[in-house]
Amino acid sequence: VKDFFLKNALRVSHLIMQKELQAGAVVVDATCGKGNDTLFLANLVGETGRVFAFDIQAAAIELTREKLEQHNCLKKVKLIQDSHEKMDYYINELVDGVMFNLGYLPGVNSNLITLPETTLIAVDKALTILRLGGILTMVFYPGHKGGQAELDMVRDYLSSLSQKEFEVSQLNFINQINNPPQLIIVKKLRRGNI
Ligand code: SAM
Repeated sequence: VKDFFLKNALRVSHLIMQKELQAGAVVVDATCGKGNDTLFLANLVGETGRVFAFDIQAAAIELTREKLEQHNCLKKVKLIQDSHEKMDYYINELVDGVMFNLGYLPGVNSNLITLPETTLIAVDKALTILRLGGILTMVFYPGHKGGQAELDMVRDYLSSLSQKEFEVSQLNFINQINNPPQLIIVKKLRRGNI
């Protein structure tokens, strides 16, 4: 077993969700893929919580459904085969947390990859449906084709947000080789924080 502390961007996104979300939370997995993050969120929100999980690929939705069924978590998850930039169409309530784990589905289809323009619209919508005090995490893969452009575009947008309304930070494992994944964390501040 290798030794690690924070390990990587995805693990830190999980640690943050663990810290921020309570049982009963309503959360969004914007890119459900094989369902690992959806299952993680479903466990975190407990019996009374709910998860909305998006993916454009039928294969991803099926893999996620199977995983949730195996773990007896399917009933609290709404699986949506559509692009996350339409999340406001499916979600008509405020949510406590949103996770994006961008890029493509390894081993299934590397052509169906998240794209800067749609990711940007999706983040904007996610920030709109996020309740005050809610948390959003985004894992980027700058080593993938197009991944750096996606990171740059979203980072530019997020760095322009008012610091009175949002706390935006970025975590980067600066001594790891091969352009490792990066994490952006957005906390929607409660009024009167500053
Ligand atoms: N969270 C996943 C897991 O635990 O296995 C991994 C996600 S994978 C890195 C990225 C996923 O984003 C792929 O399954 C891909 O189909 C999906 N995707 C790409 N573009 C999308 C879009 N516009 N809306 C929703 N999902 C999208």
